[in-house]
Amino acid sequence: DTAAQPILSARGLVKSFGGFKAVDGVDLDVAPGSIHALIGPNGAGKSTLFGLLTRFHTLSAGKITLDGHDISHTKPAEVVRLGMVRSFQISAIFPHLTALENVRVALQRRHGFDRQFWKPVASLRALDAEAMSLLEAVGLQDLRDHVAVNLSYGRKRALEIATTLALDPKVMLLDEPMAGMAAADVAVVAELILKVRKGRTVLMVEHNLGVVEDLCDRVTVLARGRVLAEGGFDEVRADPVVKEAYIGA
Ligand code: ADP
Ligand code: MG
Repeated sequence: DTAAQPILSARGLVKSFGGFKAVDGVDLDVAPGSIHALIGPNGAGKSTLFGLLTRFHTLSAGKITLDGHDISHTKPAEVVRLGMVRSFQISAIFPHLTALENVRVALQRRHGFDRQFWKPVASLRALDAEAMSLLEAVGLQDLRDHVAVNLSYGRKRALEIATTLALDPKVMLLDEPMAGMAAADVAVVAELILKVRKGRTVLMVEHNLGVVEDLCDRVTVLARGRVLAEGGFDEVRADPVVKEAYIGA
């Protein structure tokens, strides 16, 4: 087998809430550079699994490896430092800061980890240059001085992507990036994800199967806390077990 080592790997993950197992023995391998979808009905455990991977939730059992590091018991901030960042479901935007200020704050968060690089006076100009190039990458360069709360929904999402990119993640976890969006915005954000994924790995929860088909290399199907199926989109869609549990047909 010549397949690359997974950049993110989970074995036997369990998360119990009281006597209820929201995640019940999940194995997951995410290949470096891939866009990997996590799908499944409501309540399947997708968000809880993201919470485990980012170490927001403590594990009840299992092991998580990120880029060769065992992160099973690592603090969330250390996971970010190791290169895995969650975006979207909880807004990372400060509503009363401008677009530029939002990205600058995110950049400071990253450079703050690097004490040799972070020299306040000298680096302010460098930070703004980097912030501007991130705003350009998501098409917000002309709105740099606009307060975030005044941006349209789609542009807030673009700004969230810019703040995520500011952390220079190897792995981006996106929980329903298209939730609540009109079709036109879905297409814009889908294109943005394809544009910014270069050299990065994306694991995304997504309900829109058209988006999954267009964007994703691999699909893992979760139901009742367990993996039902894993494979390419067509393979997974054709699986009768998936049809029954996911589509409910
Ligand atoms: P999904 O994101 O796939 O819709 P979730 O991971 O949000 O599913 O939820 C999976 C199950 O775990 C649901 O039944 C939900 O009610 C339950 N659950 C999630 N978080 C908690 C919690 N903090 N305490 C108790 N039950 C929870
Ligand atoms: Mg969810």
